[in-house]
Amino acid sequence: MPDKPLQIYINGKYYDKDDAKISVFDHGLLYGDGVFEGIRSYGGKAFKLEEHLDRLWYSARAIMLEIPISKAEMAQAVDKTLAVNGIQDGYIRVVVTRGAGTLGLDPNKCSHPRVIVIADSITLYPKEYYENGLTIITVSTVRNHPAALNPRIKSLNYLNNILAKIEGLQAGVIEALMLNHKGEVAECTGDNIFIVRRGKILTPPNEAGILEGITRAVVIDLARAAGIEVLETPLTKHDVYIAEECFLTGTAAEVVPVVKVDSRPIGPGKPGPITRDLMHRFRQLTRS
Ligand code: PMP
Repeated sequence: MPDKPLQIYINGKYYDKDDAKISVFDHGLLYGDGVFEGIRSYGGKAFKLEEHLDRLWYSARAIMLEIPISKAEMAQAVDKTLAVNGIQDGYIRVVVTRGAGTLGLDPNKCSHPRVIVIADSITLYPKEYYENGLTIITVSTVRNHPAALNPRIKSLNYLNNILAKIEGLQAGVIEALMLNHKGEVAECTGDNIFIVRRGKILTPPNEAGILEGITRAVVIDLARAAGIEVLETPLTKHDVYIAEECFLTGTAAEVVPVVKVDSRPIGPGKPGPITRDLMHRFRQLTRS
């Protein structure tokens, strides 16, 4: 018997994957006008769901998009979408678009936001990235100026990140470091960045123009609980080059070591002890 097709939630109803469609007049498509979240599930339960929904609501508020259901209803939709698809360890994508409007920009002409929940299996990074660490480069694409499009808004307009990703891929790496308009370290295309110097963990602050990563917050808490000092402080490429360790955090990647940046080995060029300790703690938290 063929597998049952993936069931996609759109505005309260479930559709087979191939029938899950929205209008070509949706401003999410025409203008990237909308917001989204990427959430992991472990053992059939969405990880840090409340935090993700809070961020979704803040993103929506920042673009004056009213999500047509409550947070409790959204949480139920996420749980049910996991359940109907029988997803245990998976990835959930929640999308809210401005809805169908005219060909003009005016968001007021879009009256019905679309709420979409997709729960699918997750494609994990190969194991060797966690064992041996990633090689990344700094790209020339500057992270969005916060006064133009604040990186704190997780909007459907991800071209800034995609352009950086293209630069990285063309250079043969799968993740790339972006600087902000001041030349400071901001974040990677889909992950936050941390370094270790003299046993302390350093990471750019929100003011550097970054997405306030949920995994970033979890890792900061884990490190502090383990007695490791964490500072949110502006960083330059120089700080990264002289770091003892470097690692990235993100919903899909979890905690992944970085061993080379711009052809320079970080520390001894191997995943460091603090990174490995945090990877272990993160695993314990999510797999227990
Ligand atoms: N920065 C960017 C630009 C991202 O897209 C993501 C992934 N959502 C992250 C950082 C990591 O955030 P989180 O830990 O919430 O997945």
